[in-house]
Amino acid sequence: MLQKISAEMEINMKVRVPHYYEQFHCIASKCKDNCCVGGWEIDIDDDTYEYYQQIPGEFGDKLRASIMKTDAYCFKLVDGHCPFLDDHKLCGLYKEVGEEHLGVVCAEFPRFTEYYGNVKEKGIGLACEEAERIIFSDRDVFSMVEMEDSEGCEEDSEYDSELGRQLFAARDAAFLLLEDQSLSIHEKLIVLLSMGADIQELINHNQVNDIKNLITRYTSDHGDRCLQELHDAYEEDSYPNISVKDGIRSILYAYEELETLNPEWTNALNHIIEIFHNDQMDDNAYSILASEFYNQLGERSYEYKNLLEYFVFRYFMKAAYDHDVFGKIQLMVTNFLVIKEMDIDAWLTHNKTFSFENRIDTVHIFSREVEYSEDNLEILAEEFIFDDIFKKDQLIALLWIDSASE
Ligand code: SF4
Repeated sequence: MLQKISAEMEINMKVRVPHYYEQFHCIASKCKDNCCVGGWEIDIDDDTYEYYQQIPGEFGDKLRASIMKTDAYCFKLVDGHCPFLDDHKLCGLYKEVGEEHLGVVCAEFPRFTEYYGNVKEKGIGLACEEAERIIFSDRDVFSMVEMEDSEGCEEDSEYDSELGRQLFAARDAAFLLLEDQSLSIHEKLIVLLSMGADIQELINHNQVNDIKNLITRYTSDHGDRCLQELHDAYEEDSYPNISVKDGIRSILYAYEELETLNPEWTNALNHIIEIFHNDQMDDNAYSILASEFYNQLGERSYEYKNLLEYFVFRYFMKAAYDHDVFGKIQLMVTNFLVIKEMDIDAWLTHNKTFSFENRIDTVHIFSREVEYSEDNLEILAEEFIFDDIFKKDQLIALLWIDSASE
């Protein structure tokens, strides 16, 4: 007899990871911006804190003296460094207490974990340069590897499992679109914006069971028909008239609202505003620069595809908790536009060359600021609601104009 599973019952978990996940190994002392060095707050979870209270002797005393409490327990940094980092940039705590007694943050970074019902998804994040290397050099079609997991899990009551089932299918459709080689990066984003807005309408009208039917419209012809319709509407002036330079400047106002976690971010943001959004730069000059950059990037534009797939994997399914699918697509689009501008800035700074190391550096600065602060993600989500530039039609119009340079 089938039994309804209550929210409190333990359920069997599956773990799902991107195909490149197992390639990750920390490069420790070879790392340019070691996560134990860069001024990050290193939190200590409660279980680990309790364990550290029991460690005897001189090392135990030193360990306890190195812990303080802010919102959570964390290590007191010394000149921005973890106090246990040794002269060879290796972890002294690992040597003393063993890997199994490192806190969750130390043991897991740069891995992130999300729970969706009986599915646990794990990925590697772009704030780590080695993870970036793996993600941006990957040339395979994005896929996920699924395994049984020994960890039991109680389903979170905030998780909308019916919506989750529909969104997993929608996310698969998003991956298919991103892999479609006949579409440019801008075109992929235009179709995703349209799909995200349509899904949001269904959620808002309590019609989540129609999501699977809706997405066949976007996948049956690889998005071509949908893109053609969107393009026809654009040609017929159904979208607002917008300046690419002013549109992106309006987006940057939202990113200026973020709490600064690292001065490198403020410098990078101020610099793109200074060089691209001044009175001397008009739309035409802006587009010529962007075209030249794309031409030189050539086939390396797959790095943007990989970036977008990372965003889809990391954020799209969170809508099964907050019901805000469109917000996830807005985040992808605006993140892409900001990172692209940072890339063009790096390209100009390096005499119109853009190496793989430049790619790592720009995304590293961006990811540390935007992705590793829940507060900053919330600030962006708020801005997306209230400013017109983030409405579907404005973003699509902006992407159409900007697509001319790709
Ligand atoms: S940033 Fe990544 S590669 Fe560098 S020390 Fe941390 S986990 Fe290792």
